[in-house]
Amino acid sequence: MTRRPNSSRALAVDRYAQRFLQLKNELQNVEYFCKGTVLERRMKCGQPTCACHTDPAKRHGPYWEWTYKAKGKTVNVRLSAEAGPLFKTASRQHRKIKSLLARLERLSQNALKALAKAKTTESAKNPSPT
Ligand SMILES: [Zn+2]
Repeated sequence: MTRRPNSSRALAVDRYAQRFLQLKNELQNVEYFCKGTVLERRMKCGQPTCACHTDPAKRHGPYWEWTYKAKGKTVNVRLSAEAGPLFKTASRQHRKIKSLLARLERLSQNALKALAKAKTTESAKNPSPT
């Protein structure tokens, strides 16, 4: 890319390109991901004399539940003690990806506008006075 110190528009285009590259690199650190939310629940049982009814720390579990939407319907999946933490981490990764993509999209829109303006300036033989 040709550098043009006199053009602030060209500089803006460069800044967008740099920021875009940074965000794109962050995407490479992404791990396995899954949509939806993963909740860890601890329950009281049906035994009235059980300690779980008086002491919240003695409730049973954890029971892991993964909830997501598929074709407009909410799906609940019971996860094992091993799968629960893995899916919880994966759902956090999914949120990270979505946030990164949203930022990349916003940045792209601004970059494309700046790029178009820079091209307009470039093609004009006599730039309009400010
Ligand atoms: Zn109990």
